[in-house]
Amino acid sequence: MRRSTLWRRASGAALLATAVCAARLAGQAACTPQRADTLPLVMTGVTLWDGTGNPGRPGTTIVVTGERITAVFPDGSRPLPPAATVRALTGKFVIPGLIDGHTHVAGQPSGEDNHERTARRLCRALLGGITAIRDMAGDVRTLASLQRDALVGDLASPDIFYSALWAGPAFFSDPRTADASAGAAPGSFPWMRAVDEQTDLRQAVAEARGSGATALKLYQAMSPALVARIAAEGRRQGLELWAHAAMRAVKPSEMAAAGIGTVSHAFLLLYELTPEEMAQVRTSVATRLRRSSATSASERLFATYRRHGTVLEPTLFIMQDDTSGTRMRVASYLSRRAHAAGVPLLAGTDSLGSGNADGEAQPNLHAELELLVTNAGLTPAEALLAATRTGARVLGRERVPRHPRK
Ligand SMILES: [Zn+2]
Repeated sequence: MRRSTLWRRASGAALLATAVCAARLAGQAACTPQRADTLPLVMTGVTLWDGTGNPGRPGTTIVVTGERITAVFPDGSRPLPPAATVRALTGKFVIPGLIDGHTHVAGQPSGEDNHERTARRLCRALLGGITAIRDMAGDVRTLASLQRDALVGDLASPDIFYSALWAGPAFFSDPRTADASAGAAPGSFPWMRAVDEQTDLRQAVAEARGSGATALKLYQAMSPALVARIAAEGRRQGLELWAHAAMRAVKPSEMAAAGIGTVSHAFLLLYELTPEEMAQVRTSVATRLRRSSATSASERLFATYRRHGTVLEPTLFIMQDDTSGTRMRVASYLSRRAHAAGVPLLAGTDSLGSGNADGEAQPNLHAELELLVTNAGLTPAEALLAATRTGARVLGRERVPRHPRK
């Protein structure tokens, strides 16, 4: 992956902001976990972009003690703490750690996602400025272990938030569900469960919560009515609700109306449109679409999203896999329309980055940020918000402090 313009612009900042941990790891050849120094680290002269939507603050001093930011103030307005390591970083930016809103790091824990490759992938993400990931289905036994190791510092990794995947019974012949369900029949674990109209949702949601999941991810073979009932019970018990933007039997507007908070893959918004409109979108160039009938259908959809507070995760990076270019063209167009209509976009890759020993070192989120600018019409600052503030919101962490650490 080539380094993007956006990455060059933000790189120093991202590394510095990835708590001190990543910055200190960056100088090491190997991804060995390392405790943060207890002596304060002081950065002076930086422009602080804090991810709240405020403009950057030039001439700022930041004091980091251990793993915590302990003071932020204008340069020279306070004495520096004694025995501190001081780095003059005039001209550099500091931004919050980034969130990749769509990963799969434990889909095949005994194969592709074996421990060695996963550890390498997570470490590269951390060194690339990513401090949290939203995992969108895998073996939760492995995810919980990785989450724990990341939390206590045994693994150089972003914080890990994961989902419990629920779908209709028909879905569980998919071989991926067997990969993530070793030891039991696919669909029988609380975190990879087959549900239908007879499922005791109160009990099932409680079990999903018990697996440590942040959210339910609803996936295939469900009716709109069942999606709505699950979403209501999930929300009642404090879980977030995530899903693809459409299922075969559930249209994008029905997903939002049912209470799904975050929907993935902008390409799937096509399922809101009539067959004639879909054909038109597939074959037209974006400039012509502005006057097409598809525009009014997508505008109605985005008004529904705004009403329900739905977040759209385009996953433009993974659309590059479609060599015909159709998916990218459609996803880019619909993402651009959604952004212009005021729908919040979440930055997520569906592909964190290589875990191969000789693989690319940069996480794919950098390319996703660039695509959000070039293809979806976001400004660089809006793209960074899609990977910071909106990511925190989707994880239910917008206002909750980070896990307390010793
Ligand atoms: Zn995915």
